[in-house]
Amino acid sequence: MGFDKFGRKSFTAVTKTAKFVDLLGEGKIEGTVCKKCGAKFFPPRADCSACLSNEMDWFAMPNKGKLETFTTAYYAPFGFEADPPYTMGVVDFGDGLKLFARLTKGIKPEDVSVGMNVTINPLKYDDGQISFEITKA
Ligand SMILES: [Zn+2]
Repeated sequence: MGFDKFGRKSFTAVTKTAKFVDLLGEGKIEGTVCKKCGAKFFPPRADCSACLSNEMDWFAMPNKGKLETFTTAYYAPFGFEADPPYTMGVVDFGDGLKLFARLTKGIKPEDVSVGMNVTINPLKYDDGQISFEITKA
């Protein structure tokens, strides 16, 4: 499986971090950690931007974070016209790990607040595509 199975539109199918999509299909949300300096990356990177090493390992993302900021989209770009309204946010997991993703449709925009406890979960669309979303912790 490659990135052609990830998300809704136009992702590159071949990357050195395609295992991310396999893991996601198994219900695991993992980033990469540098074996040399310990820097962590999500979305996963194949090369460390801190020390330039390409010796990376996988680690499970923390399951508890806080919503740092968010916005609700009422208009969407081409290919996503059926989606609005939807809310996107940045989750701070501590340790320098932050993630940008959509919030689950199950959380109404008026119920979203900065600082709320959240987590991330794999998401499977009806057409077989997979991604991840922010949910309440
Ligand atoms: Zn490194």
